[in-house]
Formats: sequence, C-alpha cells, structure tokens
Amino acid sequence: MPASRPPGPAPESRGRLPGSLVVLLLLAGLAAWSVLALDPPAPAAADAPATSFSAGRAFAHVEEIASEVHVTGSPAHDRVVDGLVATLGGLGLDTRVQNAVGTWQSGPGAAEMARVRNVVAVLPGTASTGRLFLMAHSDSVETGPGASDDAAGVATLLETVRALTEGEPLRNDVVVVLTDAEEACLCGAEAFTESHPLAAEGGVVLNLEARGTTGPPITFETSRGNAGLAARYAAAVPHPVASSFAVEVYRTLPNDTDFSVLLADGDFTGLNTAFIDGNAAHHTPQDTPARLDRGTLQALGDNTLALTRELGDADLTDLARPGDGDATYFPSPIGLVRHPGSLVWPLAGVAVLGVALLAVVDRRRGSSLPRTLVGTLAALVPLVLAPLAVVGLWRLLVLVRPAYASMLDPWRPGWFRLAAVAVVALVVLAWCALLRRRLGAPALRTGALALLAVLAVVLAALAPGGSYLAVLPALAGVLGGLLPRRVQLLGALLAGAVAVVVLAPTVALFFPALGLAGGAAPAAVATLLALVLLPALEGLFPAGPARLRALAVPGVAVVLAVLLTAVGLAVDRFDQQNPVPSQLVYALEADTGEAWWASTEQQPGEYTSRYVGTPRTLPYDYPYLSGRAVATGPAEVTGLPTSTVEVLDDLSSGGQRTVTVRVTPQRDVRLVVLDLDASGGTVTAARVQAREVPVDALGEDRLWVTFHAPPAEGIEATFAVDGAGPLSLRVVDGSDGLTGLPGFEPRPAGVDAAGTHSSDLVVVGATTDLG
Ligand SMILES: [Zn+2]
Repeated sequence: MPASRPPGPAPESRGRLPGSLVVLLLLAGLAAWSVLALDPPAPAAADAPATSFSAGRAFAHVEEIASEVHVTGSPAHDRVVDGLVATLGGLGLDTRVQNAVGTWQSGPGAAEMARVRNVVAVLPGTASTGRLFLMAHSDSVETGPGASDDAAGVATLLETVRALTEGEPLRNDVVVVLTDAEEACLCGAEAFTESHPLAAEGGVVLNLEARGTTGPPITFETSRGNAGLAARYAAAVPHPVASSFAVEVYRTLPNDTDFSVLLADGDFTGLNTAFIDGNAAHHTPQDTPARLDRGTLQALGDNTLALTRELGDADLTDLARPGDGDATYFPSPIGLVRHPGSLVWPLAGVAVLGVALLAVVDRRRGSSLPRTLVGTLAALVPLVLAPLAVVGLWRLLVLVRPAYASMLDPWRPGWFRLAAVAVVALVVLAWCALLRRRLGAPALRTGALALLAVLAVVLAALAPGGSYLAVLPALAGVLGGLLPRRVQLLGALLAGAVAVVVLAPTVALFFPALGLAGGAAPAAVATLLALVLLPALEGLFPAGPARLRALAVPGVAVVLAVLLTAVGLAVDRFDQQNPVPSQLVYALEADTGEAWWASTEQQPGEYTSRYVGTPRTLPYDYPYLSGRAVATGPAEVTGLPTSTVEVLDDLSSGGQRTVTVRVTPQRDVRLVVLDLDASGGTVTAARVQAREVPVDALGEDRLWVTFHAPPAEGIEATFAVDGAGPLSLRVVDGSDGLTGLPGFEPRPAGVDAAGTHSSDLVVVGATTDLG
C-alpha cells in the first residue's frame, strides 16, 4: 500500500452530509420503485371484458383442478383430464387425449418411465406459418393439490384460449398441450415430442410453471439464440419480468421442467416462465388455491394472452428456429431494457477504457495509479465478505429455528431479506470506514469500478447475458466520476441511479430464486450495488480524523440488521398454515421381514425424530432413497401385499435369454420399480408397456426402471440378457400416505408433509428368482 502522503479526505466531501442524505434518499426511492414495479397487477374480476384475461375467471379453473391431490395415474387426475377435455372441447377446440408411455432422465442402468395422459387441443389459424405451443402440466405432486404448480399454468391457458376464441382468429395454429407426469419424470412432455404427430415439425413453445405461490412470473429460460423471441416478448408483454442473466444462471443449474424436454428435442424454440416466490409451500399440502396470489395469476395471464396474440400473428418461419444470437435484457420500472448480444464485448471494452481514463483523471486530481490498483484489490474484500456474512446470518437463523435447515426459504422471508441487505451494507460501510482515509475516496471508488469492469469482461466471456450487471453500473460510475468536482454529488446520483435500476431488481429476484439458503448470490449483487454507491455514501462519513464517528455509520447498519432479523423471527413463526416440514418414508422388505422408517431431513425435527435417529444407507435400494445416507429407525413389519410377478415367456437362444413378466401391484400404488439383476450378464434390451427402455440405460448387469402410474392390471416387461447366470427381479412398489401404518401417529398441528417426492411414501420390496 502506498503509505507515503496519505491523502486527506476529499475536500468535496466536507460538509456534504445533507446533500449526501438527499441523494441517498432519492436513490432509496428509486430502488423501491424499481423493486415494486416488479409486483404483479391487481387481479381482474370475473366479469372483465370477454376478450381480456381475467384472474377471477381463471381462478375458478384453479379451484376445480386443485380441489385435491391429482398425481399422475390417480382417479383424481383422470377427473382433471376429463374436465380439461370438456372445457377445451366446449370452447370449440379439437381436443384429444394422448395415451402413451413416456421416458426421460435415463442413464447407465436406470430409467424413469410413466403411463401418461396428455391433453392436446388445436385452435386452427387462418394461414399458419408454423405452430405455437402453449404448455403447462396437468398433474400435481403426491403431497399437495398443486394449485400454483401447475393448476395456475393450466388455468391460465384455459382462460387465454377462451379470450382468443372471443377475438379475431389468429394466423398461426395454436396447440394447447397439457402434459402429464411432469412431476414424476417429465414423461408426458417426452411422450408428446416422441410420438405425437403435432410435435413432429416442432414450433415455438410457451411453457408455464411455478416454484412458489406468489411474486411476478419471470421469463427465466429461453431457447438458444433468443434475440427474435426477446424482441417479440418486449413488444407484446404488459408486465415484462425477464432477464438474460436468469437465462445464463438457469443454463448452469441442473433443474428441469417440461421445457427442457422440448429444447432437447431440437425442433422447438420458446420461452419458459415461472413464478417462484413463496417457495415454502411449493410441492406441499399448502399449495392450495387460497394461497395462490391472484395478482400473480393476472400477470401470468396478461402476458401469456398478449404473447400468444403477438406470436399467433407473427411469421413463425424464423422464430421457430434458433436465432443468430442471444439478446441482453432486464426489467426496469419503465419496461424491458434490451440490446443485441453483439454489444456485450464493445460495452465491456468501453468500461475498461473508461475506468482507465478515470484512474488517470484521479491521478491528476491528487490520487495515484498504485493507490487505485490497491483500491481494486480492496474492493474484492467486501465482495467476498458480504456474501459470507449473509451465509452466516442464515446459519444463525437455522440455529435459532432448526426446521429452517430443510427449507430453501422460510414461510415469510421478507424481513430476513431486508436484514441480509443490511448485513451487506454493514460490511461495505465498515470496510469503507476503515479504508477511506488510508486510500482516499477516489481510489476506493475507481478501484471498485475497475473491479466491475473486470467482472464485465469475465461475464462477457463466460455468461454474456449477465455482463450488463457489471458493465452498465461501471459505465455510469465512470461518467459520474468524470464530472467536475463541484457537481460530484450529481455524478454520484446519476451513477447510483443507473446501478439501482440495473441491480436492485436483480437482488429482489435473486432472493426468491435461490432462497435465503442461497443468499450469498443476491448478497454479491447487492455488494456490487453498494460499491457503485460509494460516492453517494462518502458524505455520510465525517471529514476529519474522527475515527469513532466514522464507525458510527456502519454502526447504524448493525442496529438495522439486528432489528430486521428480530422482526423476521417474530413475524415468521410456524403454525398450522405455515407448518414445520416433515419428511418420512416407510420401507418394508417383505422377503427378509425387515422394515424401517426413513427420512431425508438433514437434521430431523422434533416430530420426525420420533421415528428416525442416526443417518445410514439402507441395505436395499428404494426409489428416492437409494445411495444416500438417510436418518432411519426401526419400524413394525406389516403384512402389506407385494406385487405379484408372473413369467409370461422365457426364451433362450445363442447365449441370449429373453424373459417377459407381468408385474401386478396388489395395492393402490403410484409407482413400481423393476430392478433386474443379471448376475454378471448384460442387459441388452428392455421394453416396458410396449415402450423400449432408452439405450443409455442398457449395457449394464443391472437395470432399474421406475414406472410411474402403473395401470391396475399391472405392467408387462421384457428383458433381453446376454449371459448364462441366473436372473432375479426385485420389485419395489410405492404408495402414498402413512395413515394406518402401525406406530404412525398423525402429525400435530403446525407440522406437515415436506414438499418432496418421497414424503409419506410407503415402499414395499420383494425379490423373485427367475432362475
Ligand atoms: Zn411444475
């Protein structure tokens, strides 16, 4: 650090406290506006004009669809399918049910399959240039009624189609695809792309999803080369909340929706939209119609209807193919800001040059280049420390409320999110208080901007859609810094305003996206924002060497962080509507007479602990539990009937053996696992319910097929094996609901099933020797 001639406080910061406060207040107002502008509109009533979208009308569909759990293969789901066929048929659409077997997510030795019932309806265009697919999934999880996920999406499409039939016919064919078994394995979407004639030529798809119950619908995923679709979205959509940064983030995540299946098919382009806030209820019994935010439903509907009209009348010839490049875009209070991806590198270059110029100007104003360089390295400190501090805050909350450990977000995370922002402010202000007199305010400011410029370049190379987050605040900061000293507060305001508009919505959307458990990411974005605000914050600090007074500034942030955390803890208490999640499985191995309770909870809560204790890996594989350490405990062996296995055919020729079996569950099950052990031989082919098991699951000496929604009469499977060893088939069937099992006590009020695919699952395994 260049210790000689420590610069005094910049003269322009003297006596600037009132000015600084005004600037900060204006920026706080702008931040509030930017974040509140993301909020969905008020819901339209059921008597809204017939050609517009009404959340009131759509909500009636939600109540109908989500009146009960309607998991794939259940009578409740059949009822939903019948209702969808009646509604779409009643609107005059040619509506059919595609009965098929889908398969997805296969890998060496394992495949997921499902019997599916997709509802497919066509609204013919007047002179179609291609097909526009509107997609949502009709099934719920087994643990909850799925009002948000995805009855809201389905209801949105029903109400959208109704509004379309009231207006002028569109140019293009619109195909409504209400998929099945999305929750189980995305198998409905796979069956559609694999074998439905309407899918053969591909097209443009709009997929509607949910990972929460509230918040703005975010168009978070696109096909590659999205510039054309982004332009249409920007032109048409009344509540645009979409970000090319989200697209980049999602491309790196392992998460999947039906949209993944369509993209993998290669013939589709499109946009994927989901609302994600209120995640605590997702996939749980609390995902009820009452909890669904009707404003969210209105935003989803307004956007979907507008986009359907836009794309329904567009020439889809080019839009249905991946375009040349990805656009950069992000939400702002005055609409979607958008520029071509080709500008990403030039902007990053200009930012780098701009920061270099500012460093030279700083030098002429009394700072030095080495000092600016130290300022750049110093800016890394809060960028690392603030996210760590927010992780620490979450750890602390989990210590106070251990049930948070198995949640992505608490039920009411709002105050905690503000506390996390206060923690970021605390770190940046403390860092600034300690360094500003040593390095000088200009070196800190320009150093921070240099870090942003470097980040802009790194993002341009790795995730170009996210580069704007660093480049625009950096450019604005440079412009603000270059202004003459006497208007430096104005510069601080302008730079801060750009940073706030670009970054505050990102922070607000990042919190629900990753949850407080992943709060490090929004904390990092908030830190970038705070670093650009340094010139505006500078006036808060005393001009003289009053160290104690300087530390009073971060002191205010400490008080805020503590207060906000305390309010959060007081507001977010577990109760009947906002219960502690509890995950519990009953596993029975019928041949050996062993039974266990098992839980995937990291730290089993009070209720779950009645059944399970130490983590271990169970001696047998069960769906959702195999290969992972789970908390287990002894359970009473019950007489639950195992699936019967009947050998229909057994042929051997030339070293290959082909066995056909019928597996028939003897109780009401949701899934059946066929676990074939070829004793060192190789499984070369397999077919289940007349659908070939994907080749990437073959070639091993074991094959594990999870088949969802088996019909009551059972499933027929054929296995071809190279090798002379004996074969054995272990069948595990799975049903939902622990009620009635010996030793099971219903959960008390304030505790309920967790939102996982294995909550309240009853699995029964038994092995049949095929000789
Ligand atoms: Zn879903």
